[in-house]
Amino acid sequence: MSRVAIVGGGITGLSAAYYLSRAGHACTLLEPAPRLGGVIRTETVDGCVVEGGPDSFIAQKPWALELIRELGLEHDVIGSNDHLRKTYVLRRGRLVPLPDGLYLMVPTAIWPLAMTRLLGFPAKCRMALELLRRPLPDAPDRSVADFVRDHYGEEAVRYLAEPLLAGIYGGDAADLSVASVLPRFVDLERRYGSVTRGVLAARMRPSSNSSSALFLSLKGGMQQLVEALETAINAQVRIVPAAVKRMEAANSGYRLYAGGETLEADQVVLATPAHVAGALLRSLDESLADLLSGIRYHSSITVALGYDRAGFRRPLNGFGFLVPQVERRLLTACTWVGTKFPHRVSENRVLLRCFVGAGQDEGMLARSDESFVAAVREELSRLMGVNEEPLFSRVQRWPRAMAQYTVGHERRLQQINARLVSLPGLHLAGNAYLGIGIPDCVRTAQLAAARIAVGTQVPISSKA
Ligand SMILES: Cc1cc2nc3c(=O)[nH]c(=O)nc-3n(C[C@H](O)[C@H](O)[C@H](O)COP(=O)(O)OP(=O)(O)OC[C@H]3O[C@@H](n4cnc5c(N)ncnc54)[C@H](O)[C@@H]3O)c2cc1C
Repeated sequence: MSRVAIVGGGITGLSAAYYLSRAGHACTLLEPAPRLGGVIRTETVDGCVVEGGPDSFIAQKPWALELIRELGLEHDVIGSNDHLRKTYVLRRGRLVPLPDGLYLMVPTAIWPLAMTRLLGFPAKCRMALELLRRPLPDAPDRSVADFVRDHYGEEAVRYLAEPLLAGIYGGDAADLSVASVLPRFVDLERRYGSVTRGVLAARMRPSSNSSSALFLSLKGGMQQLVEALETAINAQVRIVPAAVKRMEAANSGYRLYAGGETLEADQVVLATPAHVAGALLRSLDESLADLLSGIRYHSSITVALGYDRAGFRRPLNGFGFLVPQVERRLLTACTWVGTKFPHRVSENRVLLRCFVGAGQDEGMLARSDESFVAAVREELSRLMGVNEEPLFSRVQRWPRAMAQYTVGHERRLQQINARLVSLPGLHLAGNAYLGIGIPDCVRTAQLAAARIAVGTQVPISSKA
């Protein structure tokens, strides 16, 4: 059995450690932070489960749920409260509900589209006319904004695609690759011409029509998954509490320098953000290092505010709101946690979880907690009319944590795969490759473990 070093103890590294140790490999996990889990961090404050990072995962992708089942946490799985699912979008300073029947930004029902105040009359006509498009030959990769503008017009970009994707990637629809972020829509365009017709033909159900929950999570928060993994690997995996500073080739694999330790491993799983992997690989392959460092990352900040329910006047009929770039000052989104996951907020509390997109402006992360809380409160007053004093607040900063799949991402992955061929025993996993969500990260860990099991270098590509 191989000696495996896993670099990074976020959900990706922990999942890799779990699958590999279960297969009998001697694993060492290297993680400098005082706690495992990476951006997954849950705190219980005043009877509320407060997520500093991810609060759930999409049910449609199976890998996280499969892992949760294997770990025996199935009974703790909770679903989002989808019968109260309503998301608002800010338009001209007012929160307007997204129309029913949307599959992401694709309208599948005429009446709600006709009635919505989120889009003007010409924009609605433009969106309806999309039904008439004819199939297209393969087109080169484009930005999500260009794709949506081409199909549905500028307002659909501004008030649907941009805010929805900013909520997921903390990124800009003008930069994100449609082939990597919305591959099914590209396929439907090729087959049907009209994405709306394609969505209807494929019976892709809008989230509000689905009988099962769109998002899943764990009763005690996402940290429960981290703790279960920690327990499961505890006996078999050695954890080194240090950052890997340098890597080099060794006789039968790689030598890693971390803290005061020098470690030799036959196989290495780099489960860090791609820019860290790039820095570590520079002495082994300059071009691979450039490709990995070229994957852009955005920073984000979450600000959770807890209120006394008795004094909270604003009704919260929905999951929260999104702020399109054209209307944005600070917030990109806000989740009304008690509606989305009622089990997470005690009866007498209201919990609002706000997202601030810092993009590539790392200087923004240096602002104090007090300044974030004050700025967020001002925004909540302007957008929701919430002027009450919060009972508690929590601010979390996530520097360069959200990978951006910019135009050409798939080609970049192919180039990375080509370079990896000459580095046997080296595996990349994490949110920079096949998807940014927790299920995607678990999948990359599974793929790395499978490659190690069969001794191959299966490429990192969504087409693999
Ligand atoms: C605010 C926020 C909200 C999100 N919401 C959701 C959501 O609701 N649903 C969802 O599915 N996804 C969500 N995501 C995305 C998802 O949480 C992440 O993509 C995923 O958790 C990343 O896991 P990871 O292990 O790959 O990386 P990370 O969690 O970033 O972990 C990487 C680890 O590597 C370690 N490391 C770095 N350098 C070194 C080194 N030199 N040596 C050793 N270790 C090193 C770091 O300390 C860190 O622990 C969210 C992300 C953020 C930031």
